[in-house]
Amino acid sequence: MFETARLKLTAWYLVIIMAISLLFSVAIYLNIRNEFRRFERISEVIQIDENRFVVPLRQFPEPPKIDATMIQGARIRVITALGILNAVILILAGTAGYFLAGRTLKPIREMVEEQNRFISDASHELRTPLTALKSTLEVHLRDKNLTLPDAKKVLEESVTDVNTLQSLSDSLLTLAQYQKPNGQTPMESLEIPVLVQYAIKQVNPLAQKKNIVIKKHLENIHVSGIRHSLVDLLVILLDNAIKYSNPNGTVTITAKKNDKNIILSVKDEGVGISKKDLPFIFDRFYRADSARTKSVKDGYGLGLAIAKKIVDLHQGTLRVKSTSGKGSIFTVTFSA
Ligand code: ADP
Repeated sequence: MFETARLKLTAWYLVIIMAISLLFSVAIYLNIRNEFRRFERISEVIQIDENRFVVPLRQFPEPPKIDATMIQGARIRVITALGILNAVILILAGTAGYFLAGRTLKPIREMVEEQNRFISDASHELRTPLTALKSTLEVHLRDKNLTLPDAKKVLEESVTDVNTLQSLSDSLLTLAQYQKPNGQTPMESLEIPVLVQYAIKQVNPLAQKKNIVIKKHLENIHVSGIRHSLVDLLVILLDNAIKYSNPNGTVTITAKKNDKNIILSVKDEGVGISKKDLPFIFDRFYRADSARTKSVKDGYGLGLAIAKKIVDLHQGTLRVKSTSGKGSIFTVTFSA
């Protein structure tokens, strides 16, 4: 598909360039032809009037003899030179056009490929739990001895599965929103401690469940950004820090500013991330072994992919340092 589009675009570039080149060639040729005609006329006048001058022209230095054959020869040479020039332009423009068409279409091709990957990843992630849910329900529907308490239990489990699927589809929607270029999003000046407060409110139930303390070291700084996106970013980082911490642990959130940057970090003392997993944790649907083997599935590997998109949207950087078994620190840097 893209090869055909590339060839079509090249053809259009060629049509435009060749039309301009041919127009110039015709203009040059017409000009030169007029000049030849002028020479022809001058040489005729010289031959007719030679004997009528008081001082015969012969006494002047001999003027160049221009005859019809010379002019015809010159005309053929000009036409050949213009033809060769146009052929060279055709070859050069064809090659350059093909190269430029490839470059023009590259970002579009990458975007379409990325979207296709996203759709196939998303449908794969949705299909697996849906198939499992469907077969569980079918098996129980066929069971003639199914008691009411059993049926209630199955329904309760199914509701839990549906809730997980709902949160997966919500995350997919959020990611898709950050995926498309959304032009100029209006940024506002936001107080970091207020954003942190909003985020902590959302993750508090989980922290309390695991008896985890969230410590704050926050300077009263402002950041330019989109409120709900920055709260989402903090929720993702805090939620992960709590999820991957051992019970009774501590999570620390810090915000400070230097001359150039605003630095936000979320630190935990949890399971950490192995060296092998570190390069991939920001990829969509990537889950480290430690997360995959958990008995309860509490994530789909979308959080950090969303976090990365949010940071990119704010032209910041997101880095991680982690030691397996000791904990992790995620650092976001925005320019001040
Ligand atoms: P998930 O929903 O699985 O947490 P994320 O995209 O948020 O997805 O994280 C991707 C993977 O990175 C996780 O599966 C986990 O293995 C690892 N990870 C993220 N944050 C932490 C953390 N604070 N401590 C340990 N591992 C983490």
